[in-house]
Amino acid sequence: MNTPAPSAGAPIDRASLPALFAPRGVDTHKGSFGTVGVVGGGPGMTGAALLAARAALKIGAGKVLVGFAQEAAPLACDPLQPELMLRDIRSLLDEDWGVTAWVAGCGIGTGALAANALSELFVLRHEAPLVLDADGLNLLARGDIQPNWGPGPVVLTPHPAEAGRLLGIGTADVQADRPGAARKLAQRFRAWVVLKGAGTVVCDPDGDWRVNTSGNPGLATAGTGDVLAGMLGSLIAQKLPWDHAVAGAVWLHGAAADALVAQGIGPIGLTAGELADAARALRNGH
Ligand code: AMP
Ligand code: MG
Repeated sequence: MNTPAPSAGAPIDRASLPALFAPRGVDTHKGSFGTVGVVGGGPGMTGAALLAARAALKIGAGKVLVGFAQEAAPLACDPLQPELMLRDIRSLLDEDWGVTAWVAGCGIGTGALAANALSELFVLRHEAPLVLDADGLNLLARGDIQPNWGPGPVVLTPHPAEAGRLLGIGTADVQADRPGAARKLAQRFRAWVVLKGAGTVVCDPDGDWRVNTSGNPGLATAGTGDVLAGMLGSLIAQKLPWDHAVAGAVWLHGAAADALVAQGIGPIGLTAGELADAARALRNGH
């Protein structure tokens, strides 16, 4: 779908995201909606990768694979989401699964296995888009991995502390000028940037930025960032136009939290996994 890019500084709201609600063609099949590969879930953090993968599936990806950043996959099947294909990291990286969008870093850890896996992924992905989150960003900030991620598009999804580490400044400095911090990151890393927190800033690699209007403090709980990363990878794999995929995932994530609060499921006690169901309902027009 070709839709004009909105102007910089414009709010991200439902009305600006028609591609998010476009009906599916009758002749489509699972190959039409892309294959997401999640690289994350190190020891003790298996759930982070599962949250991202489940969210990717529930907002419409055709297929979703996980490569756990552990010597062996900690489970063969997700009992709550048996549609997911769970693999160990070597299987996901060494075999050709036809991944069309990668989500990397969720719970991946900061050890050598994680750093090596990400460095390999940057090369093997070729042109396939990459969403880099969480410890992937921390490894980058520490210099344990290099931003040699080739010409394919990249989305960085820092929260304010991760953004500060990447820029070598304090979290308070990031918060004092959120659009400015997002623009610096976008230009430094030649990437899309999603600077999270209340009023998430989405900035394209040219430095044009927008601010999200959805979301609430119910999102201030474990795993919501992993869900967002999965949703980003999913909409990108579904080939929404880039600005609609990135801004769309951010808006949908916040709107899902708003819908849950309206139902009394939060803000207190909202859980990250519930966001994917609420986001699915919104995409389906409910
Ligand atoms: P992370 O810190 O990586 O787990 O990501 C947290 C997610 O929740 C991001 O998408 C944030 O934008 C969102 N979030 C956290 N706290 C708030 C808040 N007070 N208001 C709106 N969104 C929030
Ligand atoms: Mg996070």
